[in-house]
Amino acid sequence: MDSADIADELTEVLVTEAEIREKLAELSRRIELDYAGRNVLLVGVLRGAVMVMADLARELKIDIEMDWMAVSSYGSGTKSSGVVRILKDLDTDLQGRHVLIVEDIIDSGLTLSWLRQNLGSRGAESVEICALLRKPDAAKVEVDVRYLGFDIPNEFVVGYGLDYAERFRNLRDVAILAPHVYA
Ligand code: IMP
Ligand code: MG
Repeated sequence: MDSADIADELTEVLVTEAEIREKLAELSRRIELDYAGRNVLLVGVLRGAVMVMADLARELKIDIEMDWMAVSSYGSGTKSSGVVRILKDLDTDLQGRHVLIVEDIIDSGLTLSWLRQNLGSRGAESVEICALLRKPDAAKVEVDVRYLGFDIPNEFVVGYGLDYAERFRNLRDVAILAPHVYA
């Protein structure tokens, strides 16, 4: 769906489909150079990173492998707690691998800093991060992101894989959700 299809549920489009495509091409050129001659394993974090992973992987002109993890960073509340549980683990042995974690968004940073540490402890040769979005004003821990798409304001956004209660993942753009939708 397009932002225009659900305009009354959004307050502002922050990043359009075209801007995302252009940015992923730019990041892909850097990734191709940095990983030339290496076999990179893209690790997508379910479910939000599905769109980024699909578009980034197809844009890359080098051999890649893909694997997926599902984690839950929430305790009983709705805010990231830093207590991360693995809901679905990788099927790939990371020993000696070059791992590139692919994420939709860095909010508090707690999930990714935990994930990088976790994957690094499995014997990976390198672990880097590619994230489409980051909310700098929400950071609780600094995460060293090698490949970043866009910094955005500290607002709740949906689209391009990001959901509110499992809705809006199929929106093509990234947009701020209108407050009346939470109610
Ligand atoms: P954190 O960086 O540990 O706080 O958690 C990041 C995760 O929270 C992301 O992978 C998303 O699944 C989710 N998240 C954070 N901000 C948003 C948002 O604005 N919209 C939708 N999901 C979000
Ligand atoms: Mg996520």
